[in-house]
Amino acid sequence: MKKYGREMFPLHLSFHSYGQMILRPYSHTLVPPPNVRNLDALGNVMLASLRSSGFSYRYGTSADILYAVGGASADWAYHFGVPYTYIIELPPLNSFIYTPSNIQQTCEQIWNMLVAMTGHLKVQGY
Ligand SMILES: [Zn+2]
Repeated sequence: MKKYGREMFPLHLSFHSYGQMILRPYSHTLVPPPNVRNLDALGNVMLASLRSSGFSYRYGTSADILYAVGGASADWAYHFGVPYTYIIELPPLNSFIYTPSNIQQTCEQIWNMLVAMTGHLKVQGY
């Protein structure tokens, strides 16, 4: 299988529901990945953007916030050379059921977060 490098895909995001969490690799172990400092720097950009639009998200790995899990697409992408991969657990905090009137607001918050992320990645040379 072809290995994809940073030139092709610097970022992989997987959107899930629910819980308001940003999960970086790895999902299956507490051992941090080699570029954890870069992942956390972008993670802080994500958290700051979401916080500025009124939502607080938890940040960490599935293994430390939820449970260790194998087969996450973020880990797969990371393994194939994508340097920034995250799972985003969207609102609400404790249910799959989301009030339709909140969807537009969430889309705008996530869009603003994506803009902040691309700005950070551009400064990093991507
Ligand atoms: Zn999930």
